[in-house]
Amino acid sequence: CGIVGYIGHREAYPIIMKGLQRLEYRGYDSAGIALFDGNTINLSKTKGKVDDLSARSKQEISLAGTLGIGHTRWATHGVPNDVNSHPHYSNSGELVIIHNGIIENYDSVKKELQKRGYQFHSDTDTEVLVNLIEEVKKKEGVKLGKAVQIALNQVVGAYAIAVFDRSKPDEIVVARLGSPLAIGVGEGEFFIASDASPFIEYTSNAVYLEDGEMAIVRLGKEIRLRKIQDDAIA
Ligand code: GLU
Repeated sequence: CGIVGYIGHREAYPIIMKGLQRLEYRGYDSAGIALFDGNTINLSKTKGKVDDLSARSKQEISLAGTLGIGHTRWATHGVPNDVNSHPHYSNSGELVIIHNGIIENYDSVKKELQKRGYQFHSDTDTEVLVNLIEEVKKKEGVKLGKAVQIALNQVVGAYAIAVFDRSKPDEIVVARLGSPLAIGVGEGEFFIASDASPFIEYTSNAVYLEDGEMAIVRLGKEIRLRKIQDDAIA
């Protein structure tokens, strides 16, 4: 299972696909990618190998976008199939997430969200998390980073996540607890990955998240790691 993300001035697609290949050694059953060109989000995912994703994505989506996230899944909740593959949208279609790990209390959170009208299209714990973030964002009237932080304080589990928001085309929010996550800092660009192998040829400046840390990765800003449990994200 692996995570790759990119935000910057280059086309994200080739960087992410190559990165996913470098993470294949970690083992996986499905792969997927979401690309954002500031206007449209294009998402493609499939059970199978990164090569299958490559063939499929070239056929079914536009590959344009300087922001993107890609994932290889090792299924824990829900069988390996196309629908359960990541990335996952929130109900509004505004948020997109990739996740390695497990949300242990997904069932009770899911029931709570269903009572509030949320619908679920997959059997994953991950789709529960992205909708919890959406619900927090709406209910509390906060931005993505704060919503991620509040939501993560309401779940029990292990994770490395990357999330972006259609209304924030210059930002990816990441967090880790129990699964590795690194940020590569380039010039006017950032790379996100489970280990540094997807971005070593682009930058030697890597920031490793500690367990319990999160970061708002925003173009034009320095990376600031924060504790998920702190109360400090504006
Ligand atoms: N628990 C998530 C799922 O089953 C993520 C699994 C993974 O680490 O790839 O979809």
